[in-house]
Amino acid sequence: MNNNDKLARAADNRLVRIEDIPISDQKRYRLPLLLRLARQVATLSPECEICRSLQLQIAQLGADLTYRPPMSRQSFEDYLLVMKSIATHLRRSHGLVDKRYYVKRYVLISFTFGIMLVLLGLILLSFGVTLLTLNITLIALITRVVFSYTIGYFMDRRTRKRGRVI
Ligand SMILES: [Zn+2]
Repeated sequence: MNNNDKLARAADNRLVRIEDIPISDQKRYRLPLLLRLARQVATLSPECEICRSLQLQIAQLGADLTYRPPMSRQSFEDYLLVMKSIATHLRRSHGLVDKRYYVKRYVLISFTFGIMLVLLGLILLSFGVTLLTLNITLIALITRVVFSYTIGYFMDRRTRKRGRVI
């Protein structure tokens, strides 16, 4: 564990005493996400007034998690909603992205486009145009998806290294 990890861990434990929260609750209450949000907001708060006020909300979420489980359905929904709005602020105002954002986005786009071409191939096939058309569009579909996955993977890695991931 290097020094930065130690500092981050200490900050995490100031928010909630992680050891006291059962693993199942950590999962249910999205603790890893809460900790990531807390770190990003703490980093950005010197330059952003909204982030400074979000720190209070995050402290409140940490307190809820420490003293309140099991939460009622309503407070659990509110809890998730607050996290969602914090993530939205980080995305909109600071240009942060979700985990695997680029892979998901690029693969979806290329897959949709590829499927459209395959459908076109099928239409051409129904008009008696050679089977080759369909083969070409299928191969192109696979190539496109693999290619866009690779690009997305490296974009995500670069974003992560810059600390721009929620
Ligand atoms: Zn902010």
